[in-house]
Amino acid sequence: MIITPLQNWIAQRTQLASKSQDALRAYQFEKLMQTLAYAKTKSRFYRERLKEVDLNAITSLKDFERIAFTTPEEIKKHGSDFVCVSHSDIERIVTLNTSGTTGDEKRIFFTQEDLEATIDFFQHGMKCLVDASDTVMVLLPGPAYGSIGDLLQKALAKSGIQCIVHGVLSDVEKMAQCIEENHITCIVGIPMQVLYLSRVKPELFYRHITKVLLSTDYVPDALVEALSRNGTCKVFNHYGMTEMGYGGGVECACLNGYHLRENDLYFEIIDPISGAPVKDGAYGEVVFTTLNRQAMPLIRYKTGDRARFLTKPCACGTFLRTMEKVQGRIENRVFIHGHEIHLKALDEILLHFDSILDYTLSVEENNTLHVKLILANKERSVALKEEVIRRIREHFTFEFTLHIDVHEDDRSPKITQSMIKRTLHDNRQGAKV
Ligand SMILES: [Zn+2]
Repeated sequence: MIITPLQNWIAQRTQLASKSQDALRAYQFEKLMQTLAYAKTKSRFYRERLKEVDLNAITSLKDFERIAFTTPEEIKKHGSDFVCVSHSDIERIVTLNTSGTTGDEKRIFFTQEDLEATIDFFQHGMKCLVDASDTVMVLLPGPAYGSIGDLLQKALAKSGIQCIVHGVLSDVEKMAQCIEENHITCIVGIPMQVLYLSRVKPELFYRHITKVLLSTDYVPDALVEALSRNGTCKVFNHYGMTEMGYGGGVECACLNGYHLRENDLYFEIIDPISGAPVKDGAYGEVVFTTLNRQAMPLIRYKTGDRARFLTKPCACGTFLRTMEKVQGRIENRVFIHGHEIHLKALDEILLHFDSILDYTLSVEENNTLHVKLILANKERSVALKEEVIRRIREHFTFEFTLHIDVHEDDRSPKITQSMIKRTLHDNRQGAKV
């Protein structure tokens, strides 16, 4: 097995004295201290937040763990107060609206150097799966300047790898034609969209696509299984969010969790209730701190994602840590009569069925779980519906009303704003949104 290309890249960028966890931690601690000092001096938000913190008293990572978290709500509320550079140095502003509600936007700011750092990570991260013999198609927002598609294309160009930025999947026929004509071997896309494509156009995955990189949303195990079932396609997972500078980590060829962009980001896993760090191997919430960000450094930013560090070293032989594939967002769950229904559990059940192209999930009044299934055609849908009900009932043994709707696909995937992550909507009155 080849050691993740991220290892040498990180060792070079950090000028590590030795390829070891200790050396990397020492580098990260130094960078954390610089970030704290920089943010406290330059950003209005952190000047206030850190005003009682004596930076000279922080002498270890343990001390650093006492610094308060930064939350997505704080970015929504204080947006530009986070910015550390002058307006003219801002190269790109990304507005995120994960809920689709007005007034719920987060604005993330980047300088030219911030974008260059992302390109650098993409260039070396993509080496985990592609080389100059590949042609990549990106089904993510682009090709506008500074978009994720644009940065990925620039990154691949540095390695001499051809890349077409298609944008989010909308017209399946046109896309299939584009894949055929350009001899695409690798797709980078949103998990549910790539799965949709593989179910509507399975032949593309037999004939052309041998590698897939999934990004922007968490990836259920059943989805990876469905994409790799025919044995010709390797499915890699990328972990990232705009706040991280798009990129955060990527799987090596072992496909057993991500190695992280540890030269630019310091990751922690914490207990979401107490805020205390959990031991390696235990699940918790992913928290990260930027180490080199100019425009908008973030300190102990709470991602809301559930994951854990694996305790065993990766089989690729790297000294880098491995974070297990993210399990979804902690809050992506509803309670019915005190029992938890998590989106991941439903995903693992529903993605198992090849004839389901897509679905939406919500809990409505009277504690009814609504499942809307999108099928290629409605023939045999009665038997399918019965089987779906059986599997859901088998998994969740407490009493609740289950309502399943079946719709025929109209060949237009419904993800209009691609960065919206899938959610289990709770539409009950008084429900926590
Ligand atoms: Zn590895």
